[in-house]
Amino acid sequence: MSDKNIFTTNTGVPVDNDLNSVTAGSKGPTLVQDIHLIEKLAHFDRERIPDRVVHAKGAGAHGYFEVTHDVKKYTRAEFLSEVGKRTEVLVRFSLVSGEKGSADSERDPRGFSVKFYTEEGNYDFVGNNTPVFFIRDAMKFPDFIHSQKRNPSNNLKDADMFWDFLSLTPESIHQVTILFSDRGTPSGYRNIHGFSGHTFMWYNEKGDYCWVKTHIKTEQGIKNLTRDEAVALAGKDPDQATRDLYENIKQGNFPAWTVYIQVMTPSEAKSYRFDPFDITKVWPHADYPLQPIGRMVLNRNPENFFAEVEQAAFSPGNFVPGIGASPDRLLQGRLFSYHDTQRHRLGPNFQMLPSNMPKAAKENSYQRDGAMRFDKNGSGPNYWPNTFGGPAPDSSYTVPAIDISGMAARHAYELSDVDFVQADALYSKVMTDMDREHLIGNIVSHLNGAQKRIQLRQTALFYKVNAGYGERVAKGLELNLDDVKRLTSMSQEERVKATSGESKL
Ligand code: NDP
Repeated sequence: MSDKNIFTTNTGVPVDNDLNSVTAGSKGPTLVQDIHLIEKLAHFDRERIPDRVVHAKGAGAHGYFEVTHDVKKYTRAEFLSEVGKRTEVLVRFSLVSGEKGSADSERDPRGFSVKFYTEEGNYDFVGNNTPVFFIRDAMKFPDFIHSQKRNPSNNLKDADMFWDFLSLTPESIHQVTILFSDRGTPSGYRNIHGFSGHTFMWYNEKGDYCWVKTHIKTEQGIKNLTRDEAVALAGKDPDQATRDLYENIKQGNFPAWTVYIQVMTPSEAKSYRFDPFDITKVWPHADYPLQPIGRMVLNRNPENFFAEVEQAAFSPGNFVPGIGASPDRLLQGRLFSYHDTQRHRLGPNFQMLPSNMPKAAKENSYQRDGAMRFDKNGSGPNYWPNTFGGPAPDSSYTVPAIDISGMAARHAYELSDVDFVQADALYSKVMTDMDREHLIGNIVSHLNGAQKRIQLRQTALFYKVNAGYGERVAKGLELNLDDVKRLTSMSQEERVKATSGESKL
């Protein structure tokens, strides 16, 4: 073998020339026998993998999580078992509804996913920069995303679709209020929080469990763009958030987050004033204070974006012992959908890709074969039970049982005035005058693009949150306030009837 740095084909064969195709004579056509050319073109033709259907554009970095407080009474998770313990993490931040080429400053929630490479296997935190979500039943998810993306007839983003769906989905109002505040246009990924949104089960060695929400709060401080700044930046530097993360890590200015939990006992959950498994609601801090548990630092950029970030596959279903699912209906849908979409995007063996395989634990399963199985494909028996020394399940890892009963039916979440209470708390108690001014301006400039009847239906929802909120949006849109008030006094069903049917999409 030569020491020379010789360019080879993918099969390791030396390449003699990579500038000229083999042709029949100096003026003649290319010959199919130029396998190197054919391989080169064929691979190029297949370089793109499907975009994520949501969260297509993202940026990522490596780092670590360190435990700062003892949480052993809540969870048996080994990676949380000792103060000072560090676990390697991979984080991917993203836009939600934008495509891969979207501008980083677009109004959109931001995805905030963390893969913890623990000694008990990989645990994924798959959250957003907002503590709540637009819907609470996975049945609505594809429709919600369709409405936020492009009109299938003209391939344009469409304010009618956007607001038609949201105004027909009043439980979205809390998240809409957050999205249209300046937190909907964060200045970069270093300046956002991450929220689990969902409630999860944490359980300890004894099998005692509690319900937990996780908050990952930026130590860089929240920083947002105004509407005008976000629009300008989309033209000037559409990759600004990606660049900001990369450059800061490169310069040794490592971003960090403090990790907190809120903890609710199962008996409290039975009588709490909000449904603790409804992702359109937070647990107010006064009821459930944040308890610090750790700190996360990002200190290493990817060396190859495709290998380390694009191929990273996160799922809220990647649990480790000590952390499990809750009855949250949207979570239940996500537990299926995340792995499913990765099988489509990356293939059935996506868990074996370097970013997704366990690093501190070892995979030891009965899964074999499948497209792109590129390791030794396991050894020993490929079925369980067996008497040939194959790996055996260990019942000491049993997840605590929870009592669930009821009639199997399509139970609707009953829409009630409780769905407006937390958006009101945000609007009237948390926001400053300037926050409210920006919120109204952001809503008006976007809702303005929708049909009048849809504007009225949505503005009635803002009015239901808070009369001042509704009045200011109505004023900005030049709507007749009496019409808004009339719609507000109706049930959602009547309101929809009164604002439907006159024009087509
Ligand atoms: P608190 O006053 O204790 O907390 C208010 C929270 O709101 C803070 O976490 C603050 O984040 C956050 N906040 C400030 N401005 C915005 C914004 N434009 N969009 C989203 N969040 C914002 O109040 P409560 O816990 O009683 O909650 C009141 C309301 O605050 C909720 O209805 C909800 O809308 C919002 N909120 C509550 C959270 C919770 O888990 N309880 C989490 C986030 C928001 P920061 O500390 O970074 O300034």
